[in-house]
Amino acid sequence: MKIMKFGGTSVGDGKKILHVAKIVKDYSEEDRVVVVVSAMSGVTDKFISVFKMFKERQHSSGLIALGELYEKHVLALNELGFKNGRYLTIQSNLRNLFGELLTYLSFKDEYTVKDYDHVVSYGERLSCLLVYSALSKLDQDTELVDSAKLIVTTNDFGNAKALLAETEKQVSRVVLPLLIKGVIPIVTGFYGATKDGRIATLGRGGSDYSATILAYALDAQEVILWKEVDGIYSADPKRENGAKFIPELSYRMAAELARNGAKILHPEAMEPVISKKIVIWIKNTFQPEFIGSKIWEGRK
Ligand code: ASP
Ligand code: MG
Repeated sequence: MKIMKFGGTSVGDGKKILHVAKIVKDYSEEDRVVVVVSAMSGVTDKFISVFKMFKERQHSSGLIALGELYEKHVLALNELGFKNGRYLTIQSNLRNLFGELLTYLSFKDEYTVKDYDHVVSYGERLSCLLVYSALSKLDQDTELVDSAKLIVTTNDFGNAKALLAETEKQVSRVVLPLLIKGVIPIVTGFYGATKDGRIATLGRGGSDYSATILAYALDAQEVILWKEVDGIYSADPKRENGAKFIPELSYRMAAELARNGAKILHPEAMEPVISKKIVIWIKNTFQPEFIGSKIWEGRK
């Protein structure tokens, strides 16, 4: 089994989402797959601004920003090529998500970090709806799964950690039956919920961590983190000419790189997979034939 996570740039517009759906379809012909999706690029930042605007009582700016976010998702939906009834259903699902969020934001007296987590989780709810729609268009049996039902977290809102034993129970209850039926689960990245059911995010870039948490809970063989780069480099290849591609590295090295601020993966992401020796691959969505970088315990 493989857990495949797609980052924000990988689902950055409708065409890219169709491309992602094709990758998922190809992989699912060979193996069981669980898909984890980040918010479309720029969306989490924008939801953070929306949250701040409401918190600072700038409701009209908040509404404008929400309108722009809605437009962005409808534009992506337009590119998926749906017609008539099916198009209208997905559009109204998108609209319902915005309606729900607006109701939530409008009836608050104060805006806490718990509310922040609730608000920013919408980026992943929206992108997942689009990926799910694109995948069903390719005649794949697929289902949306809200990670709040799977990942049980600590109460550290804004930067929560997974409680792995509790999460494992939830994942077996919700995801295993889908996999047995041959359904491809599309899971929202970035957040889970506390024991008492409040949405808690896993920190910025947390979808990598979501993917490895699920890999732990499902005893997956591999996690593939699909990004917009070929893999891990010794320096930022966009800035340094001499940056060297690193084909494989140990969990420890990867964790060190992540902690030192290399934007390759979430610093907590290695933790759930080390004990089970689950391999992490970093691959390029736009160059899927390229092997990518391998993170595992084999190389010291
Ligand atoms: N969308 C979230 C963020 O931008 C999570 C992620 O991208 O992994 O931080
Ligand atoms: Mg993101």
